[in-house]
Amino acid sequence: MVQQVIPSLKRILIANRGEIALRIQRACHTLGIETVAIHSTADRDQLHLKYADKTLCIGKPSPQASYLNMEAIISAAYQSNADAIHPGYGFLSENADFAEQVERSGFTFIGPSADVIRLMGDKISAISAMKNAGVPTIPGSDGVLTQDNELNKAIAHRIGFPVIIKATAGGGGRGMRVVLTSSQLAQAIQLTQAEALAAFANSDVYMEKYLQQPRHIEVQIISDGQGNAIHLGERDCSMQRKHQKMLEEAPALGIDTLTRNKIGSLCSNACLAIGYRGVGTFEFLYEAGEFYFIEMNTRIQVEHPITEMVTGIDLIQAQLAIASGKPLSIKQQDIQCNGHSIECRINAEDPQTFMPSPGTVTKLHVPGGFGIRWDSHLYSGYTVSPYYDSMIGKLITWGENREIAITRMQTALRELVIEGISTNLPLLKLILNDSEFQQGKLSIHYLEGSMLNTK
Ligand code: ADP
Repeated sequence: MVQQVIPSLKRILIANRGEIALRIQRACHTLGIETVAIHSTADRDQLHLKYADKTLCIGKPSPQASYLNMEAIISAAYQSNADAIHPGYGFLSENADFAEQVERSGFTFIGPSADVIRLMGDKISAISAMKNAGVPTIPGSDGVLTQDNELNKAIAHRIGFPVIIKATAGGGGRGMRVVLTSSQLAQAIQLTQAEALAAFANSDVYMEKYLQQPRHIEVQIISDGQGNAIHLGERDCSMQRKHQKMLEEAPALGIDTLTRNKIGSLCSNACLAIGYRGVGTFEFLYEAGEFYFIEMNTRIQVEHPITEMVTGIDLIQAQLAIASGKPLSIKQQDIQCNGHSIECRINAEDPQTFMPSPGTVTKLHVPGGFGIRWDSHLYSGYTVSPYYDSMIGKLITWGENREIAITRMQTALRELVIEGISTNLPLLKLILNDSEFQQGKLSIHYLEGSMLNTK
């Protein structure tokens, strides 16, 4: 499907690095928009710098000094005459204060308003907003837990054990603790509060029913903030290790068109209810045919390409069009889910210990062919830095059906050569060859429980 987008934005500063910086740059250049690449002193050799219209070094390697340094980024936007800032994912992408400062400084923030980021960034307010908008949520404490142990026990008994204690400011799979019995509850709450305070500078925690064998299914939406919102179907991200996704696929197995449209329209309607602007993702746990909202990501996600592959919609271009103030040019009935797509996250890490494996890539061979997509900033001679996330690329396949997408992924994984550093390629190959995965027997515990035996 062709998207006709002629953004009014002329020059965009990309406040990120790695594959997503390159991905955003590609979308900008395809639309004739200039790009400004900012980077830390450790990132002078980032691939997208070579194609940027302007590059600016904004600080030392540590994220605090560079990619999380709001002042440095905004002053780079002034210096480079950018008219908008794209935050990518991670770093400042879900930081409401940053969005606010960007807009106050006279630049367009490519994402929702600061208020909406704030509303959805706090998991308790997000859950309550979604409940009000008619989105199904998990039975839970409906608010922050207090120090009242008896009350907490009563809440847990109402919900039913096992329960999970979660940090309201949590993210990246951190700040969660499963509680099996009443006697463990008080200590678990205390520990999670302490962890949350250390990690997120906010000790608030809440309680939810712990679902035992759910799948992680999420719905992609686009909303123009002008009264039009659509959904682009769902992705299954159940293959996780330590609550971190490793492989994703679209569509999710067993979700028929009726179910997809039902949960999808609940999400689109919720976007209208909260005045959402931009692309975003509603994350759900799915068990026994029911969806339970867990959180919303108010940004582009790592796994967005699989939705692009099955819908033909370029999600970064959609972000740029919305940020330019264009009303949505596509309607819900234009969206078709065609075939199946899988994404494997390639990480620079030891396949056994999962310890990061920074270093120089001495040799790289990238697979290709029909239905294969490689989103990565890697090149031969590139040095993977120890300062940042270990994800170095995403291998994506498309096929007329799941079987073909799997076979293509197996072939592509065999062809991919990355030497000089350790990667999780062996584990990804194992998953793709696993008969239970092939049959679609997925739950969020499958990878750790059955394949890695780490549970
Ligand atoms: P984060 O913001 O850290 O990613 P989420 O709330 O999105 O946290 O949850 C991340 C993962 O944790 C989910 O994909 C799931 O694997 C697990 N999880 C979260 N809440 C529950 C729950 N109530 N029951 C079972 N697993 C859960």
